[in-house]
Amino acid sequence: MVGKNKQQQDGYFEGKVVLVTGAAGGIGRATAIAFGRAGANVVVADLSVDGGHATAAMIVEAGGKALFVQTNVTRAPDVEALIDKTVSYFGRLDCAFNNAGIEEEHLLLADADEALFDRIMNVNVKGTWLCMKYEIRQMLKQGGGAIVNTASVAGLVGAPTQAIYAASKHAMVGMTKTAAAEYGRAGIRVNSVCPGVINTPMLARALERDPTREKKLRNLHPIGRFGEAADVANAALWLCSSQAAFVTGHQLMVDGGLTAI
Ligand code: NAD
Repeated sequence: MVGKNKQQQDGYFEGKVVLVTGAAGGIGRATAIAFGRAGANVVVADLSVDGGHATAAMIVEAGGKALFVQTNVTRAPDVEALIDKTVSYFGRLDCAFNNAGIEEEHLLLADADEALFDRIMNVNVKGTWLCMKYEIRQMLKQGGGAIVNTASVAGLVGAPTQAIYAASKHAMVGMTKTAAAEYGRAGIRVNSVCPGVINTPMLARALERDPTREKKLRNLHPIGRFGEAADVANAALWLCSSQAAFVTGHQLMVDGGLTAI
């Protein structure tokens, strides 16, 4: 962990039910574990069965409660079943971290093809929309909740060689703001985290393709390092906590200053 914030130390989420998608690794796993440490009952959702079970086991080993549900966020029946299982197992849904996402793009805009466009949009945009749709339906029944979507700095500024990814993350920011406006009076807060370059399997794959990018990518951050998954987890927990009770429709940059310059 990079530091421990108050929410993580104090059992701040004791008894709360939290759903994390894309929780088989990287940012999702770190956030699911942080919620577990903070006392939450955690639903771990991912395509990956091995990784999902491993995350759930880590939460349980640390003394928390976790349920893994294999989910493809691009499929409505999967997402509906995920929320049903969450409610039948833990009784409710207080917070959701919609984090499943893919990047897969290292091409100039004119060199990408339709299949890549559809794949990225399907997971990042449709997947997030489906998750929010069924989460919000459940939260409306309970009288409130908090949702955090993992967008990206690529949801705020351009990202050369990642035009489709940037479009998908800008779309997520638009959905976040709109949902915040639509459901604020129903007690549902909706925010995004916008990470800079974070040290996860996604980054490892990108650097494997082109190791020469490491220094250039690192130097994008005035803080002088890549982010760690725990940096994003800390932000997600804060946005879900009652300490952020008046924060909604916000895009929280967790980017080591990348977008400051
Ligand atoms: P990762 O590849 O380590 O984790 C992504 C997870 O999402 C994987 O476990 C994968 O199995 C899961 N997933 C992919 N498609 C899915 C689907 N259809 N249904 C369910 N699960 C699915 O990547 P990460 O770096 O931890 O990324 C997490 C999120 O953070 C993504 O939305 C990504 O776009 C975003 N992000 C990452 C970085 C970075 O530098 N790593 C920066 C900004 C934003």
